[in-house]
Amino acid sequence: MAKRVYLQTFGCQMNVYDSERLKSSLLSQGYRMTKTPRDADIIVLNTCSVREKAERRAWGRLSEFCRYKQKNPEVVLVAAGCMAQRLGQALTEKMPYLDLVVGPDRILQLPEYLQNHPKKSQLAICSSRNEFDSQKIWEKEVLPHRKIRFTSFVAVSRGCNNFCSYCVVPYVRGPETHRPIQQIIREVQLLARSGCKEVTLIGQNVNSYQFEGKDFADLLQVVNDQTDIEWIRFMTSHPKDLSERLVEKMATLPKLCEHIHLPLQSGSDRILKKMNRGYTSSDYLKLTDRIKKRVEDVSLSTDIIVGFPSETEEDFEQTLKLLRKVEFDSAFMFRYSVREGTKAAQLKDDVPEDEKLNRLHAIIQLQKEISGRKNQRLLGKIFEVLVDERSRRNQNKWKGKTRSNKTVIVDGNEDLLGKIVSVRISSSDSFTLFGEVQHQIFEKTPIN
Ligand code: SF4
Repeated sequence: MAKRVYLQTFGCQMNVYDSERLKSSLLSQGYRMTKTPRDADIIVLNTCSVREKAERRAWGRLSEFCRYKQKNPEVVLVAAGCMAQRLGQALTEKMPYLDLVVGPDRILQLPEYLQNHPKKSQLAICSSRNEFDSQKIWEKEVLPHRKIRFTSFVAVSRGCNNFCSYCVVPYVRGPETHRPIQQIIREVQLLARSGCKEVTLIGQNVNSYQFEGKDFADLLQVVNDQTDIEWIRFMTSHPKDLSERLVEKMATLPKLCEHIHLPLQSGSDRILKKMNRGYTSSDYLKLTDRIKKRVEDVSLSTDIIVGFPSETEEDFEQTLKLLRKVEFDSAFMFRYSVREGTKAAQLKDDVPEDEKLNRLHAIIQLQKEISGRKNQRLLGKIFEVLVDERSRRNQNKWKGKTRSNKTVIVDGNEDLLGKIVSVRISSSDSFTLFGEVQHQIFEKTPIN
């Protein structure tokens, strides 16, 4: 009888993408997926390591699975992903019930490991990078197994070479590797033919994409020209690698949406240097000014870390000042937490927790005001909106996104689902726009 697998995923879109590829690989080798761990022969947790909180969640869930395995010793328990890569053997010392530990580079080899796993209680650690060529991850073209939605993520690269001092990604996901262009095109086209309207091209730093002499601007041009997808987005961009040509593509390619996520992290040059970000606050400001001038109606979002080691009140004030100057449409804001093994972990984590929290509250409040003000300016305007799901708060309303990545709630019925419609904005708050559908722009493509 086919073995049943329960797969749970924590973390970023790249982890979700890895899980979808793993699912595809498992299904093609005769495994079946289950919705609950109770029905499974094999339990896989794809973990995240990027923040302390994400690891705490993964520890908690793995502990639950270990308790379950204690009573059900025949179940095979697998820890996969970034935390598995980071901790390797150490994870198994704390969790003796684990059967397999698989890093993100090797996740597609899991069916093979399961096959060769000699005894269920014998632990295998498959996270070593020795003699492993990361580019091989793209050799086998495994398309993700996903429920086709109207919007999907497509990976264009993996790993990172930047070594920002606070970040574990280069250690857990290894050096940057770039996916062959033709694979990307095939996947986007397949999605478009299945009814998907929008793709987001993802990578830890998409701006440094290079494949056979083509850079990220070239890749966007090809996706725009050679696929039937309606809208194209991308993330994440590193400010130091964002080229003039890319800004030009944003201004001119019809399918490329007018939104860019550009992590700032801090407005203080001293802290940016300690973070090893490779730009100054003035470089960042010049770049965002250029983007705003060239790309009509562009929206900007960012990531900010507060309370980085040695961050003074003055450093923090500079971050607030930059926020006011750039006027981001939205921001993801975090307080610094130490990630073992990174350069920043060698610095004294000397901003007290309550001070980090105060700064976080202050910056969230400021961003809320800015977002609210910016959204107010959109009242009465008309935007194209891709409607992709029912509103969670009100079953009679529908949720979508503008090309500039703003969430819009509209009245309507199920017919709107998967359509790009024209919406006049009638009210707003800091996070959401509300509007009325004017008319439909594109016909819905049936989902196979
Ligand atoms: S660019 Fe910096 S923050 Fe982003 S993944 Fe790479 S090292 Fe981490």
